[in-house]
Amino acid sequence: MQCPKCESSYVVKNGWRQEKQNYLCRNCRRQFIATHEPKGYTPQVKKHCLTLYCNGMGFRAIERSTGVTRNTVINWVKQAFQKIPEENYEIPQTAQLDELQTFVGSKKTKFGFGQ
Ligand SMILES: [Zn+2]
Repeated sequence: MQCPKCESSYVVKNGWRQEKQNYLCRNCRRQFIATHEPKGYTPQVKKHCLTLYCNGMGFRAIERSTGVTRNTVINWVKQAFQKIPEENYEIPQTAQLDELQTFVGSKKTKFGFGQ
């Protein structure tokens, strides 16, 4: 195990955080979580972090709260923003559906009171 900041291997176990082994670097006193998994975080963790960000939480606060490093969260947010144009593309369809529902609704009203 190496410290991600100073690359010292003078690292000790420092309890658990978010069900992951937490480490403390004796050299620079940085705390970090073991990242032996290649991809790191589950989709649930990613979604949780993005939800926190959408609720107005800052990157530092998210890092403290979830143990996910700031840079990772920033990358996720960037990815999420890149997807927004695709999602906007669906809006016309939703609007059409609303119009349809209004149309069907008004038709029912006419039937109810027209006869
Ligand atoms: Zn260190």
